[in-house]
Amino acid sequence: MEKNIGYLEDKAKEIRKVIVEMIYKAKSGHIGGSLSSVDILVTLYYRILRVDPKRPDWPDRDRFILSKGHSVEGYYAILADLGFIDKKELETYCKFNSRLTGHPTVKVPGVEANTGSLGHGLSIGVGMALAGKMDKRNYKVYVLMGDGEQAEGSVWEAGMSASHYKLDNLIGIVDRNRLQIGGPTESVMSLEGLSDKWRAFGWEVVEVDGHNIMGLIDVLENTPITPNKPTLIIAHTIKGKGISFIENRAEWHHKVPTDEEYIRMMEELN
Ligand SMILES: [Mg+2]
Repeated sequence: MEKNIGYLEDKAKEIRKVIVEMIYKAKSGHIGGSLSSVDILVTLYYRILRVDPKRPDWPDRDRFILSKGHSVEGYYAILADLGFIDKKELETYCKFNSRLTGHPTVKVPGVEANTGSLGHGLSIGVGMALAGKMDKRNYKVYVLMGDGEQAEGSVWEAGMSASHYKLDNLIGIVDRNRLQIGGPTESVMSLEGLSDKWRAFGWEVVEVDGHNIMGLIDVLENTPITPNKPTLIIAHTIKGKGISFIENRAEWHHKVPTDEEYIRMMEELN
């Protein structure tokens, strides 16, 4: 389902509005990290991933894992837009008995793994990529991680094994918005030089502007960059991207807009 840049940019705008609406209505959610990762998710789902909403279990599909599972609203919005789930179901987000919980689970068609307990997604991706090699299937596995999540030791165990097994069908993406729930990543647990660390673990590393869809396509369409090596994309992003008064503000990791803030947000997004 190849789409042009203008289409993808419009789609990202539309998904941003759905994210704000979902969080405002549910009075719950992770607005900052959802908005920082939208352009990455849109590029993946509308341009890169080989998936079929009618066959979510198709064995040759590409796999996507949202390791930063708390940023779930944009993920659900896209799955609904593509027809994995009904758009009406988005209204049940975070409500009692809904399968659209605050962190994704495999009860939702299209979701490959239960995530949100941070630090697990890349290990699951390693398993799927290894299985793909063993089964001689040519699908790729994409794992989107948070930058705060890089402080989890299990991320680096997965990184080590991915290069050991030469998993060039595995693509890790770091949503590098430089903030986590408790403040700037460099104050909580400094990550730099992040790209050198991943290189030392045997990965091919590329840094991109995570809001530049053309740049994202350019990298994502050309993996593996080096045969036999997993690819790690550091996507530089802005937490809360698209809404001026919440951009780069750590408190909007998990804050719900008031009525007045909601109106201002929608005005900006329109
Ligand atoms: Mg972050």
